[in-house]
Amino acid sequence: MTRASTTPAGPAETPGLTTAGAADTAAPLLVADQPSAPAIPGGQHAWPPPDLALPQPATPERGFDWARTLWTRLVPFLRPHRAAFAIVGVLMCIELAAGVGQRKMMSWLIDDAILKSDFGLLMLLLGVLLAAVIVEGGVSLVHEFIYARLCGRIPGEVRASLFARVQLFPLQRLRASRHGDVVTRITSDAGSVEPALWALGYVSVAIGGIVFSVAMLAWTEWRLTLVGLVLMPLALVGPRLLSPRAASASYATKTGLGELATHLNENLANQIVIRVFGLAKLAGRRFGERNDRIIANAQRYNVMSYYSHRVPYIVVELLELLMLALGGWMVLRGDLKPGELVAFYLLFGGLCSYVWSLTAHMPNLINASAAMRRVTEILEEPLPAAADATTRFAGLGTGVRFDQVTFSYTGERNQLDGVSLDIRRGEMVAFVGASGSGKSTALQLLLGVQAPAGGSVIVGDARLDQVDLADYWSRTSAVFQDSLLFHASIGENIRAGRLDATDEDVRRAAAGADIGGWIATLPAGYETPVSADTCSGGQRQRIALARALIRDPELLVLDEPTSALDAATGAAVMETIRRSAAGRTVVLVTHHLRDASLADRILVFEDGRIAESGTHAELIAKDGVYAALWARQGEAR
Ligand code: ADP
Ligand code: MG
Repeated sequence: MTRASTTPAGPAETPGLTTAGAADTAAPLLVADQPSAPAIPGGQHAWPPPDLALPQPATPERGFDWARTLWTRLVPFLRPHRAAFAIVGVLMCIELAAGVGQRKMMSWLIDDAILKSDFGLLMLLLGVLLAAVIVEGGVSLVHEFIYARLCGRIPGEVRASLFARVQLFPLQRLRASRHGDVVTRITSDAGSVEPALWALGYVSVAIGGIVFSVAMLAWTEWRLTLVGLVLMPLALVGPRLLSPRAASASYATKTGLGELATHLNENLANQIVIRVFGLAKLAGRRFGERNDRIIANAQRYNVMSYYSHRVPYIVVELLELLMLALGGWMVLRGDLKPGELVAFYLLFGGLCSYVWSLTAHMPNLINASAAMRRVTEILEEPLPAAADATTRFAGLGTGVRFDQVTFSYTGERNQLDGVSLDIRRGEMVAFVGASGSGKSTALQLLLGVQAPAGGSVIVGDARLDQVDLADYWSRTSAVFQDSLLFHASIGENIRAGRLDATDEDVRRAAAGADIGGWIATLPAGYETPVSADTCSGGQRQRIALARALIRDPELLVLDEPTSALDAATGAAVMETIRRSAAGRTVVLVTHHLRDASLADRILVFEDGRIAESGTHAELIAKDGVYAALWARQGEAR
């Protein structure tokens, strides 16, 4: 902030790459008009699938709209620090007054002390100038300290609130296909707040500097001041026309970067497919298309933002020249003293530098405005409606019921269509059926991570949407097809099931999942990190099972827990599951009918409905869908 306030005359900095370019290269890049998914050459299928095409904002920015966008979105994050901002504001005013005062004193120094050979006055004025320099510098050190700490802290607070918000998003909003975009918003977009805060600081100094300078100018020579003030708005014409374009281009660049990050995630995760299917060229082309759009937007932004502060610089230089000409003419006519002209010219140069500084920091502010739009989009994204009042989970009671449950992910087709089912407490129930028939979806509703569109899920004697979910989850556990373990040690992964578990609890859970013996053979034991090198699929799944068991759940939900495992390992894990099912209510989704046949009851899903239900023997006797599936799997064996 000291930059503008201490620049004595005219814009001291070379405008240009320093402000326009540098600010932006650090920012991420991406795409405005992401086209709907293009067809693969020679193929009929869209790739990437349409859900990768992110929604794009339709509204282009106009005039200085971007400034309002930035301010209204930034203020909520600044408010908690208003006391610190107020202190910085007061100190800045002192610094400005000292700086501008020095220029005004030039007229007395020249006209009254030097030209009149008044040595005493000269010494006095030099003493006052020295004091002003010391005050100016000292005060700036203090406010820069406070401000620098604010600039470091506030982006972190933005990140934290984004993170907290994202934790509440509906699960399907967080599908892997959107991760890149969310990550970019939380990291680089939130990070743009920092340059914005610095720029805001400079802009505040500039506004303060303009006020002080105008006052001193008018005191020195009001007619010249009037001419300058009337012409000064010309400096803002360029930014007014160009900055909205820069703002749109910046937003497009950032959106494109978010999308590129998503694309990159997918590319890295699917490298084996890309190599084996010889898709490297195609992948390169897809990346290139996205990258080219980012490049085009980044270039548009760079040029527009550079012009939007370079054009005013030219105007301001012309104005300074005009003032010098008019002032020189007035001195020749005897209307102005030479010292007054020097002071006026210095003050006017200062004024110009403040005006120019307003526009010079625009690129950062424009960039931050685009970033804050993306940040606020996350904060304003509607969350699933919370239940009005929830009650504590009173236990499974007689069991769990679905009553005419319908559900749709997209609001179009129903993925569950009038499902009614009844799982009695202590029972082990298997869901079977073709893939895509709605089994996992039913589990998600049972777990309360999705809410039914119609009908209700009833646990014990309460509707699940009226039960405190955290309470319900504390007595429920789940194991999924992919073990979904954390990058942490085996012990920490198991303890994730119950954070206050003792080491002994962890060991007991591991033993329950038949993995304790193996862990004991590891050199680092429970401290061994979970990774592809340390744990096989079966071991990972047993760790996931231990995590589920450690909380001693009333309801245990398993979604194809053995389908990623080979037959022998799967059978062994299944045996463990069956043993740990004793005394619990268990829902098992599986396509191994042999596993399902061991359940107390089997529900057969077909196209989002329950086609049949009964024990294995009943369903075989019925000779329906299940019997046909059983016969087919029997042949395969
Ligand atoms: P199952 O577990 O029986 O294989 P799912 O319950 O996973 O089946 O899926 C049921 C239907 O819902 C399928 O048509 C699937 O494409 C669709 N589906 C699953 N998850 C989502 C999702 N997150 N968004 C949109 N559709 C989904
Ligand atoms: Mg499934």
